[in-house]
Amino acid sequence: MLKIEDINVFYGKIHAIHDLSFHVKEGEIVTLIGANGAGKTTILKTISGILTPSSGIVKFRDENMASIPAHQIIDMGMAHVPEGRRVFSKMSVLENLEMGAFIRKDQREIKEDLEMVFTRFPRLKERMKQTAGTLSGGEQQMLAMGRALMSRPRIILMDEPSMGLAPILVDEIFKIIRDVNDAGTTVLLVEQNANKALKIADRGYVLETGSIIAEGKASDLLEDQAVKEAYLGG
Ligand code: ATP
Repeated sequence: MLKIEDINVFYGKIHAIHDLSFHVKEGEIVTLIGANGAGKTTILKTISGILTPSSGIVKFRDENMASIPAHQIIDMGMAHVPEGRRVFSKMSVLENLEMGAFIRKDQREIKEDLEMVFTRFPRLKERMKQTAGTLSGGEQQMLAMGRALMSRPRIILMDEPSMGLAPILVDEIFKIIRDVNDAGTTVLLVEQNANKALKIADRGYVLETGSIIAEGKASDLLEDQAVKEAYLGG
């Protein structure tokens, strides 16, 4: 479904991503794990067209993304939940969710999806009219995920959804990611919380300073000695 081939990404002279290749198959949860500054966010931004690679190809559903204008990327079924859960802070919860569906015209299905989001995140339903900027960090993360789901994506790219959340909420967010995947959405999950990410993922890639240094089935990576020492706290 998603294929990254030999991409290189620079910020000025800084070479952030080196000849990187990986893929995500339909129906999978794939996680990219790595320490601060490894290049995880850069990769997601390159996939969703926010950054342009200096070389290499990003293919989504057999289309080269370089030829797709940014506004059509959502249309093709890709949603990106950015790091730091950027919600529209002055708008209400409901308005944020409606913005997620702005490219769609199927009013009845939009309503169904709104109900689906409220079922998954009852907290958002209770706070439908509240201004998004006044939600707690965890609630904003839920809203950012809910908004992405409102575009009915085939794939959802998630950038560190667990960042800054209390442990109990982290568990809740990971459970929701699993549920979203069970309901048919492919997931590319970027995480520093390697242990939790590998526990819900099918496959994983370990990123170090812009290159993949290990890859495999998530269950195998969880048992890998080097991965354990570097990323799973021994
Ligand atoms: P974190 O987990 O800390 O968010 P990350 O793995 O997502 O890290 P990136 O944000 O992708 O890492 O950064 C990869 C590298 O690119 C880092 O060395 C970072 O300093 C550098 N970088 C990121 N954004 C910029 C920018 N706008 N200008 C210059 N360098 C940047």
